[in-house]
Amino acid sequence: MAKRVYLFNEGGKDDRELLGGKGANLCEMTTLGLPVPFGFIITTPTCREFFEAGNQLPSLLEQEYRVALDLVEKKMGARFGDPENPLLFSVRSGASVSMPGMMNTILNLGLNDEIAEGLAKKTDNARFAYDSYRRFIQMFADVVLGVDGKLFEHEIEKYKAAHNKVLDVDMTAEDWQSIIVIYKTLANFPQDPFVQLKLAVEAVFLSWYTPRANVYREMNNIPDTLGTAVSVQAMVFGNFGDDSGSGVAFTRNPSTGEHAFFGEYLFNAAGEDVVAGTRTPLPVEALNERMPEVYKELYATQALLEKHYRDMQDMEFTVQQGKFYMLQTRSGKRTGRASIKIAVDMVNEGLITESEALMRVSPEHVEAFLHPMVDPAAKTSIVANGLPASPGGATGSVVFSAEEAVEVARDGTAVVLVRRETTPEDIHGMKVAEGILTELGGMTSHAAVVARGMGVCAITGCGSLTINYQQGTAVTAEGVVIKRGDIITLDGTAGEVMLGDIPKTEASSSDDFQILLSWADKHRKLKVRANAETPEDAAKARELGAEGIGLCRTEHMFFAADRIDKMRGMILSETKEERLKYLDMLFEFQRDDILELFKVMDGLPVTVRLLDPPLHEFLPHTPEEMSALAKRIGKPVETIKAMTENLHEVNPMLGFRGCRLSVVYPEITEMQVRAIISAAVDATEQGYRPFPEIMIPLVVNVREIRMLNEIIDKGIQEVLKEKAISIPYKVGTMMETPRACLGADRLAGEVEFMSFGTNDLTQMTYGFSRDDVGKFLPQYLDKKLVESDPFVSLDQRAVGKLMEMAVTESRGRKKGIKYGICGEHGGDPRSIQFCHDLGLDYVSCSPFRVPVARIAAAQANVGGALSD
Ligand code: PEP
Ligand code: MG
Repeated sequence: MAKRVYLFNEGGKDDRELLGGKGANLCEMTTLGLPVPFGFIITTPTCREFFEAGNQLPSLLEQEYRVALDLVEKKMGARFGDPENPLLFSVRSGASVSMPGMMNTILNLGLNDEIAEGLAKKTDNARFAYDSYRRFIQMFADVVLGVDGKLFEHEIEKYKAAHNKVLDVDMTAEDWQSIIVIYKTLANFPQDPFVQLKLAVEAVFLSWYTPRANVYREMNNIPDTLGTAVSVQAMVFGNFGDDSGSGVAFTRNPSTGEHAFFGEYLFNAAGEDVVAGTRTPLPVEALNERMPEVYKELYATQALLEKHYRDMQDMEFTVQQGKFYMLQTRSGKRTGRASIKIAVDMVNEGLITESEALMRVSPEHVEAFLHPMVDPAAKTSIVANGLPASPGGATGSVVFSAEEAVEVARDGTAVVLVRRETTPEDIHGMKVAEGILTELGGMTSHAAVVARGMGVCAITGCGSLTINYQQGTAVTAEGVVIKRGDIITLDGTAGEVMLGDIPKTEASSSDDFQILLSWADKHRKLKVRANAETPEDAAKARELGAEGIGLCRTEHMFFAADRIDKMRGMILSETKEERLKYLDMLFEFQRDDILELFKVMDGLPVTVRLLDPPLHEFLPHTPEEMSALAKRIGKPVETIKAMTENLHEVNPMLGFRGCRLSVVYPEITEMQVRAIISAAVDATEQGYRPFPEIMIPLVVNVREIRMLNEIIDKGIQEVLKEKAISIPYKVGTMMETPRACLGADRLAGEVEFMSFGTNDLTQMTYGFSRDDVGKFLPQYLDKKLVESDPFVSLDQRAVGKLMEMAVTESRGRKKGIKYGICGEHGGDPRSIQFCHDLGLDYVSCSPFRVPVARIAAAQANVGGALSD
C-alpha cells in the first residue's frame, strides 16, 4: 500500500507531485536545517482517493497520521490535545502547481475550552490564548462548518460598539472570552481535537473544488485531476506580543526585478493578517531596527534559499517571542519586467544558464512587458497615491465589486475594479478588469500578487481613499469624489491615480529584454516572420525582430480611397478590355506598395499572396453607395446592382475566392505577378536585395497549381526578359484546405514552399465558420465541448494531424522545400511548440507578437532539451 503520510524530514523539493509544492518545500527547508516548525503531509494521491470514494477519507488514514503526529509531538516537546502543554496545528492546502490563496487553511487547530485555558496558563498570556481560540472557532466554522465568516465579524463589531472599543488591540482576554461565548452559539463547534483534525483534512481536500479554485485552474490550464496535499504543521505565533510578528519577503523585487531583498512585516500579527491585506504592513527593514538579530537570520535564510533553488523566492516567516521561523518558500510570482530582469541577472551571476533563463519567462510576461504605460508627459493632477503593485497603465470605468466588473465589462467596456481589499472570491472580477485599485494591503497582498501574475495593472494600499460601497464612492484625502462609472486612469508603475483617460505611450523595451531576445534567437530553430501589408507594420515587425514577411494579404492594399474605385471598376467590368484598363491602373499601386515592403525588408523574404477574398467584399452595399459609385465610374446603377447581386454567394468562404479567382480571371494574377516582379526589379536597381515569394491561396489540387504556375512563370519571365535582369524568387502555396493537406505529396513537386493557413484550415476541418463562431463557441467552451478556441490555439489532434500528414508525405519530394505557418496560430506559444516539433521552417504572426514568438520558438527548442 502506498504511503499516504510523510513527515517533513521524509521528502524534498522534487516531490511536488506527491506532496504539493508547499509540502515539498517545507521538507526541503527542514532538510536544509532551517527553523521550520515540524509537521507532516498527507499526499495528493490521498486527495484523489478521497474524491474517488465519494468524499470519504481512506479508512486507515487516521491511523497513519496519528503515528506521524506522535513523532511531531516528540520533536516539538508538546502534545496535541494536552491542556497542560498543548500542541496546535496549522492545516493547509498545497497542490503540485501553485494556486495562491485559492484553497482553504485552518490555523490554531487543537484548541478547545480546556486547552485555551491551559494555553493561557502556560504562556501566561490569556489575551493571546483567547484571541487565538476565537480566531480558530471563526476560521473553523467558516471553512469546515460552512458558517458565513461575516456573521462573526458582525458580532465583533457589535460587541466593540457596545463596549466602547475600536481596534482589536483594545480587546482584553475577558472581551475575547465573551466573544467566544457568542461564537459558540453560531456554530456547532467540536471540542475534540482529533475530530477537528479529521474534519479539517476533509475540508482542505474539498476546497479543491471551491468556485475560486475552479476559476483559477481554468484560467491557468491546471487539470482538475491533480488534487491537493494537506500539510499539518506545528503552530508558531506571530501575535504573541510586540516581540512577535509575521512577514512576507521576496529575495528580489517582484515588481521591478531589482536584486534587492524586499519584504513586508507586521508586528504582533498572525501570518494571515499580512496576506489578507487588512492592515498595511511596514517595510521589512523595520524588523532590522527593532530586532537586528532576527533580521540577520532572515536575511541569511533568504540568500541561502535563493542560491539553493536558483530562483527568486517568495517566503513567509513568523517571529515568536524573538525566535525566527520559516513557514513557506516558493518561486515568487513576478511581473513581466521583473521576470526578464531576474532571468538575465541570474545568468550574469552564474546562477542559471541561458536556456534556463529563457524557460523562466512566460509568453504572457513578454506581452505584459510590451504593455502600454501612462505617458509621463500627459499626466494630469494625481488625486491619490498608493503602492505600485503591478505595472502598466490602465483606464476604465469605476466599479466597486467583482460582479459589477463582470456585468459592465460584458459589452467590452474597460473597467477599473476599486475595492477596500480583494479576496480570492473576487477573481472573476479581477480577470475582466483593466486595472485594480485597493485601499488596503501591501505589495504582497492578494490584490498585488494576483494582479502581477495576471499582468493586470494594479495599485494597492491607497490609504488616502475612503471607499463607501453602499454609496458607490471613493473619496480622496482632498475630498475629490470618484463615483461609480467615472473614468479613471491608474499608473501601476508609479502607484498614481488620475481622473479621466490619460494617454499612454507604447510599450517600452529594455536592455535586458533585448539580451533575452538575443538569447532566444541563438537558441531557436524556427524562424519568425510577420504578417504585414503596410510599410509601417513591416518596419515595426522588423524592429521587433521579424525575419521577413510570411504573409502579405494583397487585398488589404486595395481599400485605400485612391484605389478602391479602381478595384470596383475592375470587378464590375463587363469585358476583358475594360478589366485590363482597370488592372493597368491597379498595377501601378500594387508595384509601388510592394516596392516599399521590399525596401523595409531589405535582404529578407517577402511572401506576397495573390488576391484571396470573395470579390463582393470590395463592392458597396447600400443603394446610396451604389448610385455614388455609378456616377464615379460612369456605369448605370442598374448594371452595378445586377452585377453585385450576381456576385452574391450563399457560402462566400467556400465560394468564389482564392486561386479560383485566378482560374476565372487569369489577368488579375498576371497583373499581380508583374507588379511583384517589377517591384523587385526596381528595388534591385535602387540597391536593395528583394526576395519575393509568390503564394497561391486556397489550393485544393495539383492541377490548380500547375495552371497557376504557368501564368506566374510567364509573367515573371516577361518582366525579367524585358529588364534583362535576374532576380531570386520562389513560388509556393498556402495549405488551407483539408484536400491540399491530404494530397500534399502531389503538390510538393510543383512548389518551393508550403505555408499553412490555419485560419481557413481550422474553419474547414471543423466546419465552423470563422466569422460566425462567436454565436456558439462560448457555449462550447463553457460546456467543455472544446478544450480551447481552435482559432486561437491550434487544434493539434485534427488540424495538427492534417499538417503533420502534409509535411510527412511531401517532405523530400522536392529538394529545399520550406514549410511555414501564417494563420493566427503562428503567434500562439502552444501552437509554436507544435510547429517546432513538426519541423516547420518558420512561423509568421502579427508584428506585436513577434517577440513572443521568438521566445516561444526558443522555449520550444530548449524546453525539450532541458527535460530530457
Ligand atoms: C489563413 O487562412 O490561415 C490565412 C492566413 O489566410 P486568411 O486569414 O487571409 O484567410
Ligand atoms: Mg486563408
